[in-house]
Amino acid sequence: MYPAPFEYHRAASAQDAVALLGKYGDEAKLLAGGQSLLPLMKLRFAQPRHLIDVRRIQGLSGIREEKGMLVVGAATPYATLAASALVQAKLPMLSEAAAQIGDPQVRNMGTLGGSLAHADPAGDLPAVALALAAEIAALGPRGARTVHADDFFVELMTTALAPDELLTEVRFPLPPAGSGGAYEKYPNPASRYALVGVAAQLTVAGGKVTAARVATTGLATKPLRALAVEAALQGKAADAASLAAAAEKATDGLKLRAAAQMPDAYRRSLAVTFTARALTRAAKRAGG
Ligand SMILES: Cc1cc2nc3c(=O)[nH]c(=O)nc-3n(C[C@H](O)[C@H](O)[C@H](O)COP(=O)(O)OP(=O)(O)OC[C@H]3O[C@@H](n4cnc5c(N)ncnc54)[C@H](O)[C@@H]3O)c2cc1C
Repeated sequence: MYPAPFEYHRAASAQDAVALLGKYGDEAKLLAGGQSLLPLMKLRFAQPRHLIDVRRIQGLSGIREEKGMLVVGAATPYATLAASALVQAKLPMLSEAAAQIGDPQVRNMGTLGGSLAHADPAGDLPAVALALAAEIAALGPRGARTVHADDFFVELMTTALAPDELLTEVRFPLPPAGSGGAYEKYPNPASRYALVGVAAQLTVAGGKVTAARVATTGLATKPLRALAVEAALQGKAADAASLAAAAEKATDGLKLRAAAQMPDAYRRSLAVTFTARALTRAAKRAGG
């Protein structure tokens, strides 16, 4: 299938992208890696008249450490995240999740900002952004603002971004000493999307869990924090028995999204298994 005809615009700057969005309104779409938007256009589920390419905007990609944060530009490709020594050292969960997305072509083109803005219910990085308490920066005609990951994913493929806003960068707070994170995924064998994905971030002091953020993807209509798991971990020993007991709560209160691939009971059991694996590796990295 071929997409419907469109006009291509290459934005020169973030401000230029926002101005073009304002100019073309409902007829415009931002284009980053194109790994979700172009398939939708080829199937004619999306027919934007104007495509505004943001991937080559200077300053919209790159990774830096700043004021206790790891700051990643929206147009940074997954392959860059996966290969970055800084990300591997500071937030290994982020680099290992990026390394598991799709195939090399998808990882070379797909971007962090595109993944979060698209908010696919089986996307990997939305769960990582939740577990790492990311702050998501946006620029629009009303200026710049920041949305916490907890408030960003609203519903199925719907985020807190307004249609005239550009996601500019993602700020990941660097965790304190004694912290560790891990991402575990059971991929769809064809697409590599997560049938179940679990991102876990723990802080351990004196052998006990003092902070925990755990998020799942692939199970519901949007990525969700596993609040029951987090509550079960709080103040408990970071040992195998406590981690396994907490993982049992992986889908507590969670309404599964319909999925033809496998029975619900099996998906819930996979969620428990992959949560236990993510917690175990996170605790090990935390030194627990
Ligand atoms: C074969 C295949 C396998 C895949 N496997 C996986 C997988 O295993 N895991 C996974 O997580 N994903 C997977 N994906 C999806 C991939 O991660 C997409 O790249 C991602 O969903 C979108 O990122 P993108 O940069 O390509 O954005 P695009 O496709 O260019 O854009 C997606 C949407 O986000 C909007 N957008 C993009 N950038 C911005 C911005 N800066 N500000 C505001 N809005 C923006 C666009 O307007 C569009 O609506 C796969 C895709 C394919 C084709």
